[in-house]
Amino acid sequence: MSALNELYQEVILDHNKRPRNFRTIEPASHHAEGHNPLCGDRLALYVQVTGDTIEDVAFQGSGCAISKASASLMTDAVKGQTVEAANALFQRFHSMVTTPPDQPVENMGKLSVLAGVREFPVRVKCASLCWHT
Ligand code: ZN
Repeated sequence: MSALNELYQEVILDHNKRPRNFRTIEPASHHAEGHNPLCGDRLALYVQVTGDTIEDVAFQGSGCAISKASASLMTDAVKGQTVEAANALFQRFHSMVTTPPDQPVENMGKLSVLAGVREFPVRVKCASLCWHT
């Protein structure tokens, strides 16, 4: 395993162990439940949208390390963004994790640690569950 892959793994393990924004928002303007039956990941997502802006976002749930780390990274990435910017980020993320492993992908900063799931098609669902939710 390359040093870069090890670093990526470390970021994922860290977000799995200490997920950011792992709580509820009561009341939240938006709430949704997501389920990935392939892996058993379950996720409850809470979003507080004020005007056009995602003022706060949080999640709860249980699942594999990839699904939890992805949700944690996503909440960090979309908090404070407009809904439109968050949707655009989802499009970019989706394209990153569904690009064939032998093709280059754009650098998405911290979210790039999840680009490795491209090599494991089953894991793509784990990484994108929070975004779909
Ligand atoms: Zn999973």
